[in-house]
Amino acid sequence: MIPTIGVLALQGDVREHVLAFEGLGVGVRDVRRPDDLEGLDGLVLPGGESTTLSLLLGSSGLFDPLATALRGGLPVFGTCAGMILLATDVRDGREDQRRFDAIDLTIRRNGYGRQVASFETQLAVPSLGEALLPAVFIRAPVVEAAGPGVEVLATLPGTDGAPDRPVVCRQGNVLVASFHPELTPDRRLHRLFLDMTDEESG
Ligand code: GLN
Repeated sequence: MIPTIGVLALQGDVREHVLAFEGLGVGVRDVRRPDDLEGLDGLVLPGGESTTLSLLLGSSGLFDPLATALRGGLPVFGTCAGMILLATDVRDGREDQRRFDAIDLTIRRNGYGRQVASFETQLAVPSLGEALLPAVFIRAPVVEAAGPGVEVLATLPGTDGAPDRPVVCRQGNVLVASFHPELTPDRRLHRLFLDMTDEESG
């Protein structure tokens, strides 16, 4: 059966993720209300502004049903702000910013600093093959620590004495990236996520 992937469509770069999954031949649904979660095989939390997303998740009534679905094993792919929402520990967030505690990561918002707030690079992701993965970072969150249950799929080498940082991580049904894979044509991360939805339903 063709899977249906939901894309949280409250704010942020929703359209690019929708187009990415449509290009892979799966069904895609915008998620704006609790009803939209019905029957999904996977859900994307896109980049945007995690503080705004947190507020809109509350006002739309989506936060609690989504938290329940994630605890129930719904595969989820969080990119940039989406990753922040899924982490267990968020630094430099707003005091009232909510999160799903779905992946054991300590994240610092906008942690790459002002000069390098946005940059593009080519990442080694050994589990996706030899070709480097293009990665666009936009006011990206830094993963400062990853718990023992987290598999780090890619690391950004530190420059100027800064430590190396995990930038693609997985724990169970949760996949996250600090950057924006939907903004470049390489679809290997979106495909990896589809494989995760297969595992879950199979
Ligand atoms: N800086 C944003 C935040 O804290 C994330 C940026 C992004 O998603 N491109 O939510």
